[in-house]
Amino acid sequence: MDGFTPSSDPFILDSHARGELWRVLAETAEGFAGEVGNLPAGAHVGPAEVRRVLEQFDFDEPGDPVQVLRHAIDALRRLQPQVGHPRHFGMFDPAPTTMGVIADALVSLFNPCLATWEGSPFGVETERHLVQVFAGRFGYPDEVADGIVTSGGSEANLTALLIAIAHRFPEYPRSGLRGLPGQPVVYCSAGAHPSVARAARLAGLGDAAVREVPMRTTGTMSAEALAGISRADRESGLIPLMVTATAGTTGEGVIDPIAEIGEVARRGDIWLHVDAAWGGAAVLLPELRPAFAGIERADSITFDPHKWMSVPMNCGMLLTRHPSLLRETFDVTAPFLPNQEGGTPDPFARGIRWSRGFAGLKLLLSLAVAGWDGYEHGLRRQVSLGNRLRDMLGAEGWSVVNETPLPVVCFVDERWEGETERRFLMGVAATVNGSGAAKVFVAKARGRHALRACVTNHMTKVADVEMLVELLASARRAVVAAGHLDTDVAASSSDCEVDACSTGVDFGTSRSVAG
Ligand SMILES: *Cc1c(COP(=O)(O)O)cnc(C)c1O
Repeated sequence: MDGFTPSSDPFILDSHARGELWRVLAETAEGFAGEVGNLPAGAHVGPAEVRRVLEQFDFDEPGDPVQVLRHAIDALRRLQPQVGHPRHFGMFDPAPTTMGVIADALVSLFNPCLATWEGSPFGVETERHLVQVFAGRFGYPDEVADGIVTSGGSEANLTALLIAIAHRFPEYPRSGLRGLPGQPVVYCSAGAHPSVARAARLAGLGDAAVREVPMRTTGTMSAEALAGISRADRESGLIPLMVTATAGTTGEGVIDPIAEIGEVARRGDIWLHVDAAWGGAAVLLPELRPAFAGIERADSITFDPHKWMSVPMNCGMLLTRHPSLLRETFDVTAPFLPNQEGGTPDPFARGIRWSRGFAGLKLLLSLAVAGWDGYEHGLRRQVSLGNRLRDMLGAEGWSVVNETPLPVVCFVDERWEGETERRFLMGVAATVNGSGAAKVFVAKARGRHALRACVTNHMTKVADVEMLVELLASARRAVVAAGHLDTDVAASSSDCEVDACSTGVDFGTSRSVAG
């Protein structure tokens, strides 16, 4: 490459190259908040284009670090939807806090390993503190509160199931499932995140051990149905082990009746797990706390700061009120760590992962700067923008199909039904997303397809919500005018096809239990 002399140390680089890299990085970071709204919120890129860009990264010759950095920044700008875009109304991938971004950069710089307490006393104590603080916000008494930082909600849900089995069957960590006296069964509703059912697969119980509990007309789990099904299971020799109530389902944002489900669980000696991965942040709002009543009695809770708390990806938590259980489930001796006798607070002995980065720092710094007040204010604003979106869609002739106090809105156009409705909604989503000006999803809500928009991004303003409603109105006209509704949208417009499919999310898989 012209004018480029490889550094004598290709890893640390020389100070001239480093200075230039930090400058480009700092400029990119500083300009990003102003720039992201002009990048595509949800534009479509095909694999060929992405692979062409990848060819710029050549491993056969030493590369110019600044050039490589610029290629990467360009790819990150162009070749993906921008979750930080104020009109990215997408799953729950919010704009990250600036302190969170800085924390992740610092963590990469120092790169501590939190497998052991000695590996990072600051890291391990920070995460322990954060676990205690959030356990307290959910209502766990200090004496029993415990937990661990996870990579996200999926790891937390799996951790919950493993400790639930070990709680019921203390010999399980050594004897395995074959030592159990019968077949355990776990319960959730069709609205539960698929990682809940997959946890049963990973734990060796299999899909067959997952029982789907019917919902009420509100889309929430029916506690009466849970009582009936678990009683029948017990009478037929199965072991009702755990029920997962979801506090803010991924698709519709509904909150299962935790206290009622908890009462059924208590009477049936069933472990109560609450998956509050994204919705849990709402306990910081006093006006929404009552919707989570009973969560303080849950045996375990999944909570993902990397969703509505707006910290960068890879920061989840599993909380439990059984303080010795994580260690009883996960502890092993490590011959290469001769100083670690059992009973240490080492994270490797209390969770699934071994080497682990310092994910807690991004939450610590974000909270220390925004404070509880800052979060309360931001979350409340987003809840009210969600309500505003709901009202505006209603006024525009859309029908909102989900019921929740949280800012997730699922909506349809009642003029269409069945397969035509699905094509219409896919077409509207593809048109909105194809414009690059906003990103919405199509999800299953109440067993039917619906457009879905959530406001969990602190960058979103009233004008963004208004613009979304306008984009939807013109997309609706365009899709009807294009006349694809009697034929297959996918077959008639190849560009829409891929995007429409990639926006479709189905949380309504059916599950059944064998035996
Ligand atoms: C996102 C989500 C999960 C999965 O969490 P990850 O952090 O993506 O692993 C689990 N449960 C619910 C309710 C979710 O919304």
